[in-house]
Amino acid sequence: MILGRSSWPQAAEFLKDSDSKVVLIPTGSLEQHGPHLPLLTDSLIAEAVAGRVEALRPDTVLLTPTLWLGASEHHMAFSGTVTATDSGYLAALNSVFASLNRHGAWKFLVLNGHGGNEALNELAAREASRQSWLAAAAGWYRFVPDSVWEATLTGRDRMIRHADEAETSVMLHLHPDLVAMEKAVDDGLEIEPPVPGLASGFHQRTTHGVLGRPTLATAEKGAALLEAAVQGAVAAVDALSGPLGFLQPED
Ligand SMILES: [Zn+2]
Repeated sequence: MILGRSSWPQAAEFLKDSDSKVVLIPTGSLEQHGPHLPLLTDSLIAEAVAGRVEALRPDTVLLTPTLWLGASEHHMAFSGTVTATDSGYLAALNSVFASLNRHGAWKFLVLNGHGGNEALNELAAREASRQSWLAAAAGWYRFVPDSVWEATLTGRDRMIRHADEAETSVMLHLHPDLVAMEKAVDDGLEIEPPVPGLASGFHQRTTHGVLGRPTLATAEKGAALLEAAVQGAVAAVDALSGPLGFLQPED
């Protein structure tokens, strides 16, 4: 069920049997994605994956509107980027969990589209688990099996980076009208700095705000990645909505 399109009595009815229901929360950003992709890219992709998951499991999934205001401080040197503070982002996500828990929900899946949200989504899930709620947080890209990444991408970037072959491909599949392929440039290809975990801004690592090879993107690759992500996320919803035997320790 799509929460934003439902009435309060419909929400109440849906959450009566909350053990079998999973709240699905897409999280994204409004941040620069190079000269060829729109600022809303992460939000559009997370929303598309989550929307397809809801369509396949409408009696299980309670889909919230997409949280578009992400943690994007590291992109602020590029115009148009809008960021939350880390604490503000975390407070917003915690509030979604807590509000829906007051209506009976206790199983949550955060489906992320933006790397900068990842650590905070995991913190929110950890906090939720302290309340004895069940919460998982993962980017859509983590639901794509390695075999699909390897079969789909031609570039050396077999993991998602930024405005790269993968992200650009998914956008060509979902919203070709919003992609300016003639402006796509491969960028940020230098080897990583020799300090693991170094926090740095995108303006310090790229010229155009791109990390990867968007010039290799095609809509067909995007369709394959999106389909794999949807299937993986549906499997996660099925596991969360079921009897949770996977949480039992083996004896
Ligand atoms: Zn992105």
